[in-house]
Amino acid sequence: MKQKILSLAGDGIGQEVVPVSLEVLKAVTSLAGRDIEIVHGLVGGDAIDKVGSPLPDETLSLARETDAILLGGVGGPKWDDLPTQERPERGLLGLRQSLGLYANLRPALVSPALVGSSSLKHEIVNNLDILIIRELTGGIYFGEPRGTDVRNNERVGFNTLIYSESEIERIARTAFELAEKRNGKLCSVDKANVLEVSQLWREVVESLSSQYPAVQLSHMYVDNAAMQLVRNPKQFDVVVTGNMFGDILSDIAAMLTGSLGMLPSASLAGSGVGLFEPVHGTAPDIAGENVANPIATILSVAMMCKYSLDLPDCAESIENAVNAVLDEGFRSADIAGSEESKKETILGCVEMGEKIISALAI
Ligand code: NAD
Repeated sequence: MKQKILSLAGDGIGQEVVPVSLEVLKAVTSLAGRDIEIVHGLVGGDAIDKVGSPLPDETLSLARETDAILLGGVGGPKWDDLPTQERPERGLLGLRQSLGLYANLRPALVSPALVGSSSLKHEIVNNLDILIIRELTGGIYFGEPRGTDVRNNERVGFNTLIYSESEIERIARTAFELAEKRNGKLCSVDKANVLEVSQLWREVVESLSSQYPAVQLSHMYVDNAAMQLVRNPKQFDVVVTGNMFGDILSDIAAMLTGSLGMLPSASLAGSGVGLFEPVHGTAPDIAGENVANPIATILSVAMMCKYSLDLPDCAESIENAVNAVLDEGFRSADIAGSEESKKETILGCVEMGEKIISALAI
């Protein structure tokens, strides 16, 4: 059956890294003898300029009938002065909410070729491979009531941290299932020593544990987890946590790898449809110059193959091709110079994509 992919290049370097990554997707699926259809839609500032809305109805309808979405990124200085509700970011938040994308997956992988890019010591990050799973549609970013008020003659600000059992259960199940497919270790991160919502979180996660006997479950307070991620990140395999803790911990994990241009992400819904995007933004400072690193988006395509298209061989082929190209010393400008001893060749965005395509094998 033909699978349908929606391409949303968005703004800035999204317009460069998405087309390059789609070429990789076409090449790998053709090698695997699989049929895919790619449709294109508008989102973010590009959509504001062309049709006056950051998330046009047509894009949302396309998103609802596709198997997976590849997004470049949204935003840029051109749209920074618009009111909050009209800004490009509304396009992304609207997509996440409309599709119920509650599980955000961020792998932090350090390939041996790039170990010098990390600010941590070689032995701490070499061959690091961890997966942070962040709950994305609940918690304090969405809880009600929220707002500002005047109390006792002064202004106060307030938000609500709330999780229901069902919200905790579905993200925990996603985490257990992914841990089963990896090294079978799951660490649930909370603040159960202080917060009631975390006590419920811990109880619900613990209650599911017996259904996943192959997974070794542990719990950690978030302050300790932040410290352990920097002290000894290789102790983790899969980490699951709520929206705000996940926001912070996934950025720490990202920095372990030292290279923003290398990090993919996936946001998944129960229905199976997924949104795949690089962790980085639209990089307006380098947009249009063919110097952006396309690898984060290419690795997002690998995640798409793994999690939404049921093409694990294609995912592996892409990951292997990326590693092979890096091993040969090919670099985009942002990751150049990490190993002084090695001879490097700097490639542009398009040329890096072509090099990776030529290294694909199934
Ligand atoms: P950014 O990630 O766009 O850029 C930070 C720095 O990293 C810049 O110097 C940039 O040149 C560099 N960089 C990022 N990706 C790169 C790549 N693939 N190759 C080479 N260098 C790369 O973050 P920012 O500057 O804070 O934000 C720029 C715009 O992107 C803002 O409008 C912001 O709102 C938006 N943004 C969007 C998303 C998203 O759509 N998911 C995420 C973050 C930021």
